[in-house]
Amino acid sequence: MSITQVINPATAEVIREVELVDREGTDAAIERAARAFETWRHLAPADRARLLRRFADLVDAHIPELAELEVANAGHTIGNATWEAGNVRDVVEYYAAVPERLFGRQIPVDGGVNITFAEPLGVVGVIVPWNFPMPIAAWGFAPALAAGNTVVLKPAEVTPLTAMRLGELALEAGIPEGVLTVLPGKGSVVGDRFVTHPLVRKVVFTGSTEVGKRIMAGCAEQVKNVTLELGGKNANIVFADADIAAAAAAAPAGVFDNAGQDCCSRSRLLVESAVYDDFMAALETAVSGFVCGDPRSAESDMGPLVTAAHRDSVAAYVDAAEVAFAGTCPTGPGFWFPPTVVTPPGLDAPDFTEEIFGPVLSVVRFDTEAQAVAIANDTEYGLSGSLWTRDLDRALRVSRSIEAGNLSVNSHSSVRYATPFGGYKQSGLGRELGPDAVDAFTETKNVFFATQAI
Ligand code: NAD
Repeated sequence: MSITQVINPATAEVIREVELVDREGTDAAIERAARAFETWRHLAPADRARLLRRFADLVDAHIPELAELEVANAGHTIGNATWEAGNVRDVVEYYAAVPERLFGRQIPVDGGVNITFAEPLGVVGVIVPWNFPMPIAAWGFAPALAAGNTVVLKPAEVTPLTAMRLGELALEAGIPEGVLTVLPGKGSVVGDRFVTHPLVRKVVFTGSTEVGKRIMAGCAEQVKNVTLELGGKNANIVFADADIAAAAAAAPAGVFDNAGQDCCSRSRLLVESAVYDDFMAALETAVSGFVCGDPRSAESDMGPLVTAAHRDSVAAYVDAAEVAFAGTCPTGPGFWFPPTVVTPPGLDAPDFTEEIFGPVLSVVRFDTEAQAVAIANDTEYGLSGSLWTRDLDRALRVSRSIEAGNLSVNSHSSVRYATPFGGYKQSGLGRELGPDAVDAFTETKNVFFATQAI
């Protein structure tokens, strides 16, 4: 077994050492999960629901602890981390309603009675990235468990602490051993084993498009179910008829929240030429008021980047770009990078086309609605986006034209646990959250009962 050092990105100090699970440990955990499945799937629906509600209550009681752990491990601001822990509670509570409502259908047929059953798949492997360690874990494990599956979950190498704590809280809530197992480890070891082990019947992967493609190809070997939530290069379109002050005030949080390490980050800003100068002046003021600082402070809007290597990758994009203006950030230890606005020389500039995953906003102008839609769709990604307009016809027209799974009109909101979330094109496959997420964790079984003619 090898050890990894978990580092606080705001101070660059080691906060804990964590043992990484190896291949044998992964196989043993998958086999335990397969045994636990036989009990968990047959638990009375009301009992499974009650255990999930207890788990949600325990998460609720531990929100401050979980939030502080995330601040230390991932550099999230205390405001964000508190929301994220609350989101885990909400998601578990929401899906706790599923066991008693996992309806099949009675379909009229000739000569008998036809019933469908929604049956669990078995062991589900959930692979989580480092950018939102808590919510993304829960979006996978909560509907999976509710439908009667058992889960093995691999957090990202650099951010394992909150997922490990959630695993402990699940046990404390009375969820049996083996039903939710958190396995800190390497993607190439633990994550890869989820793909290749025949007892894992589904893989839920959130992460880069590059790794997601490999996971999908690997799952094809065993015709294994897969849900993919991948990258994004999302457009924020500001039309001249919009409330320009509101659009400019909201733009920084739309891209710089979580230091831009958000698959839904609105990192491409498209502004109609007629209002470009006014908008940019208001945006500069808003960016200078966006506080990058100590993530433990309630005053901070964003913290550091997750690792030194990631900061270097973000810095390389900015070094090659034309910076319009930037905010400030702390100096000294920690992986800091200021909120930065760049103006690409052309629509093919790397800062405008590639997912930087940092606090970098790339701004261009457009002249017509058709041009704005064409620019927004000129990407292989299709996760989220925003548009700002006071014209309802335009809002509907453009919303229907943008090739992305999650759009907001006059806001940057992407994620609600009660509504579906996921990407078009190379941003993903399948949907998480919302009322239908559980369908992705069940097989439909059709049973026909022959009856005698009356
Ligand atoms: P990543 O693809 O490097 O890693 C994601 C996870 O996959 C990690 O747990 C990693 O250990 C694991 N992994 C790596 N190689 C693997 C392999 N060969 N087999 C199995 N597992 C493997 O991504 P990251 O850098 O951690 O996260 C950032 C990316 O995640 C960004 O591209 C971002 O857009 C994306 N993301 C998408 C969403 C979404 O919902 N669409 C949400 C958050 C992040």
